[in-house]
Amino acid sequence: MNRLERAVIGALLVAAVTMAALAPAVAGLIYAARSERQARVERLNALADAALVRAEDLTRRLSVALGDIGKVSDAPCSAPYLRALRRIALAHGPARDAGAYDRDGRWQCSSLLGAVSAGAPEGLTLPAPDWRSRDGVSAWYGLARLPGGGRSLVMGRDGFYVAADPSLYVDGIDTARAQVTGLAVINTEARRIIAGTDAADPAAMLAVYRAPPAALDCASVAVRRSASMPLAVVVSVPRETWRQRVRTLPWGWLLAGVAMGLLCAGWAGYFIVRRLSPRGQLSDAVRRHQFIVAYQPIVDLATRRCVGAEALVRWKHHDRIVRPDHFIPLAEHRGLIQAITDQVLDTVLLELGDFLKRYAEYYVSVNLSAPDLTTQRFLDVLVPALAREGVRPQQIRIEATERGFLDAQAAKEVISAFRRAGHAVYLDDFGTGYSSLSHLQNFRVDGLKIDKSFVDTVGQDAASSSVASHIIDMAATLGVQVIAEGIEREEQAAYLQARGAQSGQGWLFSPPLTAAEFIRYAGKTRAG
Ligand code: C2E
Ligand code: CA
Ligand code: CA
Repeated sequence: MNRLERAVIGALLVAAVTMAALAPAVAGLIYAARSERQARVERLNALADAALVRAEDLTRRLSVALGDIGKVSDAPCSAPYLRALRRIALAHGPARDAGAYDRDGRWQCSSLLGAVSAGAPEGLTLPAPDWRSRDGVSAWYGLARLPGGGRSLVMGRDGFYVAADPSLYVDGIDTARAQVTGLAVINTEARRIIAGTDAADPAAMLAVYRAPPAALDCASVAVRRSASMPLAVVVSVPRETWRQRVRTLPWGWLLAGVAMGLLCAGWAGYFIVRRLSPRGQLSDAVRRHQFIVAYQPIVDLATRRCVGAEALVRWKHHDRIVRPDHFIPLAEHRGLIQAITDQVLDTVLLELGDFLKRYAEYYVSVNLSAPDLTTQRFLDVLVPALAREGVRPQQIRIEATERGFLDAQAAKEVISAFRRAGHAVYLDDFGTGYSSLSHLQNFRVDGLKIDKSFVDTVGQDAASSSVASHIIDMAATLGVQVIAEGIEREEQAAYLQARGAQSGQGWLFSPPLTAAEFIRYAGKTRAG
């Protein structure tokens, strides 16, 4: 991964984590704001509904009182007539007074004041009503100077009337709870305010009533119309300021959103870091079978004919080929190497199975790591796989390095098992470890591979230049084969062959090849 890629991935990581943290918090905030607004609208509507029910009830009761007065048969303004009116006013809660007026609207008598003398003051003549219904009921809204004090709501018909305190329409509604600033009851035919709270601006309330419903901000005003009477109720609360909104937000939701966000962010971060870590990437590679195999030909040094190949694994990672030195140690450390060994075997059999079946004289060497040499697991995979493909056990050889002998006793048994099953076993990188010699004595193996570092010094004056020669002599004494690795020059090949090494491998003969190239290479040396 180069710097730019790392920077891009880092930026993506930060963006992803930020997004993951913010998204649920923002969602929580929006949800919280919505539910708060919804609650406000519901409170406002419930209040408007209650106010309308009350207004209808009051109006109905005043109408009934008016109807009852109409049924009184005594002579208007006579003592029994006034007594009857007083009774009716008392019986119908909201009516505080009842009385009679003449055809010109001059006030005649009242249940509270009794008969009014003929020379009544001018102010006691009823003005033109504010509204007149089709069935002859007149209404005056806010008449002053009637008995009972204050302003009166008066409903009259056929010369008699009932009066009530208009504040009854709006008192008793719990305006404080919903922080209502305006509540008004409107006569929808006269378009007049019947009653309103002190703070309600009549012009503003009528304007709200007249506005089309779509234009109303349903979180700050509510309008309810009566289905049975020409009545409507308008309720308003002040528009919320940002500060109020913030204060009334259900913070629990927001905190839950943030907590969720942090959880998601943590999870996303962990997931991304895991995926981007070398270990995560290697696990991914194992899961996705991203390994390919190169085959480096091994030649008979005497005839220079190809006798087999070493299978060398590569990781195909984002169109790049990663060499085994860069990931095998990690795979060994993280317990992924056995899966890789299995994939190498699968690939070898897939690519070279037919070739090996056809040409019994060729073999392929497979490199094993310590975990592969601790148990017989790989042998148990290998034997049935070869049987399935029809490849002879002799055609798969095993390369084991000293690093693989962590548990020497176990390794010894596993090596014996491979050999009993017909697989030749080689000690790889021979001479580079501390105890190569003792291993050669303790483990019964078929051959050894002289490490490239000893081949490099062949023909030089260095003290180690004769190590390769000594190793070959020793192998001859023990009766094991020798393969020399990393031969790059002809003089190295000639020297090693002259000393008795049977096989060699290196760029002099061929670099690692694809399966098809290897098959061509083997064919060429067979013919040549
Ligand atoms: P090794 O087993 O000693 O493999 C030989 C290495 O030397 C290979 O490197 C090969 O490409 C390189 N080589 C061959 N001829 C020459 C030459 O003439 N000159 C030079 N300079 N190099 C040459 P590679 O493929 O990078 O493999 C490195 C190591 O990775 C291997 O060393 C082996 O220990 C390990 N390895 C490779 N494939 C596997 C595998 O499938 N499983 C396990 N466990 N280890 C593997
Ligand atoms: Ca090897
Ligand atoms: Ca080696």
